[in-house]
Amino acid sequence: MTSLAAARITVDESLCASTGMSESVAPHLFEVGDDGALVVLQPDVPADLVEDARAAARSCPTRALAVS
Ligand code: SF4
Repeated sequence: MTSLAAARITVDESLCASTGMSESVAPHLFEVGDDGALVVLQPDVPADLVEDARAAARSCPTRALAVS
């Protein structure tokens, strides 16, 4: 069974400073590539990962992440 997305992650790329904090907090949702660009692995967040997504957004020092 496929879980429905419970939230959506958006990144303001103009704010992201590639610190890697979001990847540290939620490695199943975020990955900083070799080129320094942040990749959101699951932009449509299943219900069981919403809290992790919100924790990552809170951890972002530049407030580049939004979870809605
Ligand atoms: S924590 Fe924020 S600034 Fe750091 S990589 Fe993630 S989105 Fe970018």
